[in-house]
Amino acid sequence: MQISLKQSCYQQMIQHSTEAFPEEACGILLAPDGDSTITACMRIDNVHEQKTSAFRFDPEQWVNAHYWASRRQLTIAGIYHSHPTAEAVPSSRDVAGLLDSQLLYAIVSLKQKDSLQIKLYRRNVQNQFINYPLVLT
Ligand SMILES: [Zn+2]
Repeated sequence: MQISLKQSCYQQMIQHSTEAFPEEACGILLAPDGDSTITACMRIDNVHEQKTSAFRFDPEQWVNAHYWASRRQLTIAGIYHSHPTAEAVPSSRDVAGLLDSQLLYAIVSLKQKDSLQIKLYRRNVQNQFINYPLVLT
């Protein structure tokens, strides 16, 4: 299985992550209802106490995002966040985090400044992160 992502959304995640550096950026990935192509991204403020090594969605923005999406026949297909100095692999904190297993999990790595990277994961039934190939459309 591969996941399609609009090029514009890819660029937005890179842009947001670069602006937020050295803190972690976070947000959501949106797809039209009944479709698996991610067509839009939305920024959510990181309200974690240690923003350089973790993220937590602003709770009010997170709730509002659900309303915003449903009014536009969009589904929250996943979330994204950045790793300012680490590889694009789930950290122990990411693994420990409780999340809906159906959500996609995009990680933007700023570790290699000349080749920023985004990797996409989803949890399997054992709650392990599985990497999915990402196709830009
Ligand atoms: Zn992380």
